[in-house]
Amino acid sequence: MQKITAVTEMQTLAEDLRSKGQIIALVPTMGALHDGHLSLIKLASEQADTVVVSIFVNPTQFGPNEDFAKYPRDLERDLQLCEQAGADVVFAPTVEGMYPKGYSTFVTEEFVGKPLEGVSRPNHFRGVTTIVAKLFNIVRPDLAVFGQKDAQQVAVIKKMVADLNFTVDVVVAPTLREQEGLAMSSRNRYLSSGQRLEALAISEALKMAQSMVEHGELRADRLIAEATHILSQKRRIRVIYVAVVDRNTMESVREVHPGVSMMAIAAWVDEVRLIDNVVF
Ligand code: AMP
Repeated sequence: MQKITAVTEMQTLAEDLRSKGQIIALVPTMGALHDGHLSLIKLASEQADTVVVSIFVNPTQFGPNEDFAKYPRDLERDLQLCEQAGADVVFAPTVEGMYPKGYSTFVTEEFVGKPLEGVSRPNHFRGVTTIVAKLFNIVRPDLAVFGQKDAQQVAVIKKMVADLNFTVDVVVAPTLREQEGLAMSSRNRYLSSGQRLEALAISEALKMAQSMVEHGELRADRLIAEATHILSQKRRIRVIYVAVVDRNTMESVREVHPGVSMMAIAAWVDEVRLIDNVVF
């Protein structure tokens, strides 16, 4: 496995691989890798000749009071995990390499990214679309793998790819969970054991909503009320949103359409912000 830091070196390698007819898959990450990330790498290696994992804690997708400075970073461990999972290249650029002094161009998707995360994290998706567009231009992948865990991110990236005519196939991987149900996340390592226990209410609320749908309850307000009730039982949890939306547009829906509608939850567990979702 090769580790690359310089943008130009990554571009040269990608051009070389493309000219040899290799199928390139990109797995964008911010590092602090867990089994969820590794499942994306494995899926990518099944569909491509060369798997490039990018590891970059992208400053432009963090708000001024968010956890950019303290976001967990452990490149040596991440490199080992990438190699074991079947990555061929790790692209780990520096902040200065990606955003040199005077950098001033941003990509914004202006509809799908507006509700939900867009409300409480106003510039988040602008940072995400900008970095992903840059990575697409640097790595020139045939496909890129993203996790359903970040459902709105998937929808925003798909919209950007369609709107800007990127020729990248967006592949979506299912959410990997801890045994008790908590969706895996790099931010889970901020949780104490007590907080972790309370955080389980998020996946439990989604599971309850899923079960209600399976039993015929399609009214979004009823599903939201029940999920909110479950979350409200936990002293450390403050709900940011519980919403039933169209998985492609992120618009609220009154009634569930199986396969198209999803429930999305964001909540604070004390000072740790977690998100999760289920597609009905
Ligand atoms: P991050 O490092 O948090 O930016 O995540 C990098 C990629 O891994 C994104 O496409 C995420 O959606 C995906 N991801 C994060 N957590 C999980 C999970 N529990 N299961 C599957 N994919 C995940």
